[in-house]
Amino acid sequence: MALGWRTGDGTAFKCLIALTAVYGCIALGVYAIIHMWHVKPLGIDAPLDRFSEARAVEHVRKLTVDIDGRQEGKAGLEEAAKYIVGQLEMIAARAGPEYRLEIEETLVNGSFNMIFLHHSISLGYRNHKNVAMRISSRDSTDDDPSVMVNGHFDSPLGSPGAGDCGSCVASMLETARQIVDSGWVPPRPIIFLFNGAEEVFLLGSHGFMKTNKWRDTIGAFINIEASGSGGPDLVCQSGPGSWPSKIYAQSAIYPMANSAAQDVFGIIPGDTDYRIFAKDYGDIPGLDIIFVLGGYFYHTSYDTIERLLPGSIQARGENLFNLIKAFANSPLLRNAKQRSHVTAQKRAQVEQAVYSDYLSLFMIYYSRRVALVLHTVPVLIFFLMPLILGLPNVAFRHSCAIFCDILKGLLFHVIGVLLAVIVPVVFAILRLVFSNYPMSWFAHPYLAFLMFIPGSLVGLLIPKTIWGFFPISQDASKRKMPKEALSEEAHFWGAFGFYSFMTMAYLLAGLGGGCLTYLISASMFLSWCSYLLVKKHFGYQSPRSLTGYVLPLIPCLIYPIYFGGFLAQFLIEKMGMMGSLPQPYGYFIPDIIVAATIGVVTGWCVGPLVPVAGRWLARSSILQCLVQVSVIALALSSQFFPYSDAAPKRVVIQHRFVTAGGSKIVESSYDFSVLDSNSLSFVFKYAPEAAKMLNIGSDFSFEAANHSDRSSWVAIFPVSSLFSESLKFPAEGDDILNYYIHMPHLSTQKSVSISQSGSRTVHLELCLGSLKEVWGAVLNITGPLSAWSFADGSIPDPHMVVGGPPSYILRLSGSHHENWTFWLEANSSEALRVDLAVLDQHLVDDAKKLKNLFPRWVDVTAFSSFLTSYYF
Ligand SMILES: [Zn+2]
Repeated sequence: MALGWRTGDGTAFKCLIALTAVYGCIALGVYAIIHMWHVKPLGIDAPLDRFSEARAVEHVRKLTVDIDGRQEGKAGLEEAAKYIVGQLEMIAARAGPEYRLEIEETLVNGSFNMIFLHHSISLGYRNHKNVAMRISSRDSTDDDPSVMVNGHFDSPLGSPGAGDCGSCVASMLETARQIVDSGWVPPRPIIFLFNGAEEVFLLGSHGFMKTNKWRDTIGAFINIEASGSGGPDLVCQSGPGSWPSKIYAQSAIYPMANSAAQDVFGIIPGDTDYRIFAKDYGDIPGLDIIFVLGGYFYHTSYDTIERLLPGSIQARGENLFNLIKAFANSPLLRNAKQRSHVTAQKRAQVEQAVYSDYLSLFMIYYSRRVALVLHTVPVLIFFLMPLILGLPNVAFRHSCAIFCDILKGLLFHVIGVLLAVIVPVVFAILRLVFSNYPMSWFAHPYLAFLMFIPGSLVGLLIPKTIWGFFPISQDASKRKMPKEALSEEAHFWGAFGFYSFMTMAYLLAGLGGGCLTYLISASMFLSWCSYLLVKKHFGYQSPRSLTGYVLPLIPCLIYPIYFGGFLAQFLIEKMGMMGSLPQPYGYFIPDIIVAATIGVVTGWCVGPLVPVAGRWLARSSILQCLVQVSVIALALSSQFFPYSDAAPKRVVIQHRFVTAGGSKIVESSYDFSVLDSNSLSFVFKYAPEAAKMLNIGSDFSFEAANHSDRSSWVAIFPVSSLFSESLKFPAEGDDILNYYIHMPHLSTQKSVSISQSGSRTVHLELCLGSLKEVWGAVLNITGPLSAWSFADGSIPDPHMVVGGPPSYILRLSGSHHENWTFWLEANSSEALRVDLAVLDQHLVDDAKKLKNLFPRWVDVTAFSSFLTSYYF
């Protein structure tokens, strides 16, 4: 069937092309900013009073290339601590007499309960090393309120940790040097905390807050972290109160912050030391600043120095130095004692502010009180419009009719925004029904934009195509305007109302967002005024009038494209680690999330244009064209392989040994799990050599294969809660006996004591045997546990598995050559079951060989684990 060309189609396509060009140019600029093209990294020979990325990268090289692994349990962790201390001593040696520099190495011990990734867990730890340096002026006192910068030097399992958090340590070392070499004598002490145990559940910061002599002096902290390999260092959390974000807004050179980020922080799996300092074990005002791009490499073996995004560390360093200065100079910097004098009433006043950066150029920042006024104005305008538009005729009925039309416009706009999300989601589902695998956009994010933006536009425009069928309620003759113009006006004010109500909803919900929709409604108002003027000149039908509407809107459009593009890219990268969700729905989830997100973003970016531009664009020829582009992109995307070594697929292998009696292997297996929606059958289909080693032939049935349940993964709890389907393959078990004579073992230390109330106390001793690279030991205790010797005697909320009894998870870590001794109390005669799982990073030869059989696009995290069950 030939496509009929109707009158107006030519103009419509011209408009479409022009708008595509405008959006394309903005998107290109935004891409450049997000990828730090605007920041020039300074070289190794940069002036000493400047922060140099090249000098910082040299530290990253030492920590990641020269040192082999900084994980808990590996020798590299201690080497890293030594390297840091050596660097700090060199800085101290350069400092003039006006400075006072103190360096301390401490080993921290402790025990506490926490909720992590929505799971309750108890932690016991000992001998984790923290390194700290305090830089102050010669005449500072020990109680002076100080500013702390925290970053961790341990790295996650199986990762060199260049971004996470070699980059943090490097930035801190270079900043400490810069302070001394620039001659800036801090008016208040600056503490750099090089934290040696973050990846093992925030233990280093907990130990610091519980025991360090400087803890009560800290008046502000900056926690630097990485959830990727670079990009803008986003302020993800700030508080308590608005002072830290205000300092950031005033002093960051390359600001990247959005108060909406804090609203969604809890949704993204992960946590940082921020919670320990600002919430759980202190009320120190602070900032949580995180590298968020390059999430592909986060916690993988690909987090190497080559993957660091140039410019990122430079921007971080320049921001950091300025922030430290601003905090140290602020009259509001108070130590714990001074903070306790600030009344509760005063504290309540310092609520979270509303803030956002604009293209990393400057910050929009206003207090909640200002937001209360500012964010209410659009809603007031919305309700006043029917009266204003009715002027000079102020008849009640007439105003009601105008209001009714505007409400219709609002309804149509809401439907459009909803369809902008629904249509791409439907496209995503349809594609998956016909294709081989999900996430085809993972290594090629532009495919996701290509597939889902046109579909989303179709959704946005659909209501406008039927808009004409609904007659307006107001009397056109009273307004002396053509019906089409009145109808367009009603749609415009309806859309304006939509953004105004969204802004209001954010405010009433007590959230930090709302800046985006506020900016949209404010800009739409200005654009509408400009449009009315231009329309008068060029006439209602001329597409030039559209220019009058679009041009003033561009500064506003840039903002959602920047913010939304960043969000979409971030989410796409994070989809590689969202967990393997139960099939059959799990197969669809990442595509649906990405399609919906791009739909929402398209709604933000194009929605404000629709009431006016829709007149040209909402026609069947344009919609057909957009659908065709979508279909081609959907078909094309299925030709792309979802992974590459720059966007690896995450696979976890556990070489599991079930042991008995401390020296016997009862069973041994390889357990496999994946961290996204492409299942293990996908992995083995494209990794034939690994499949061969595991005897996975063409007759192998993944459905009938042995599955390993979550309890077998308890050594990496609660990360194991992300695995919904794991497979188990038999392995040779005896190899390990060539390496280790003694396996981890739990034994009763003395006879069981029974109290008068009938509760039993079991005294236990945990020996980790001859294991060499222990990352941690996890005890899953099931039964009538009523008290124990951990976390000041308090047991946490039980962990509930559907259909199972309540159980308590305890994780122990640190210096494994000593035994752990502890007691458990049971309040009934029923047995306490203790499942012990110890994670060792050492692999036997076969497991190493298996790990190396996977292609480059697979990132394998592999470890050995030793499991034993006991009843006491
Ligand atoms: Zn980290």
